[in-house]
Amino acid sequence: MRPAEVNAVNCQEIYSGLIRIHILYHACQGPIFGLGMIEELARHGYRLSAGTLYPLLHGLEMKGYLRSREVRSGRSIRRVYRATSTGRKALALARVKVKELVGELLEDDSK
Ligand SMILES: [Zn+2]
Repeated sequence: MRPAEVNAVNCQEIYSGLIRIHILYHACQGPIFGLGMIEELARHGYRLSAGTLYPLLHGLEMKGYLRSREVRSGRSIRRVYRATSTGRKALALARVKVKELVGELLEDDSK
């Protein structure tokens, strides 16, 4: 089987943990909602559809990292997420892992 061409869009699988950490980070900073998070991730070059992001947010909530509530804005209702204390702990642990990984990845910049 020929390896598929890898680009920033189709190696989403590799980025899935990074995306979760990114979501968790913003949810620790303040309330987040789906569309806003899609835009924020797009700013960083991650193109996620609502069909990908919403299950991700839901999954993080089911695991206890996020808590959501419905907030009315004008005539629409939007689901807003915040990190729980478990989410904050998970982010602190992830930060250590990311630091370690970044250190190793960038150890030899010539590669
Ligand atoms: Zn961000």
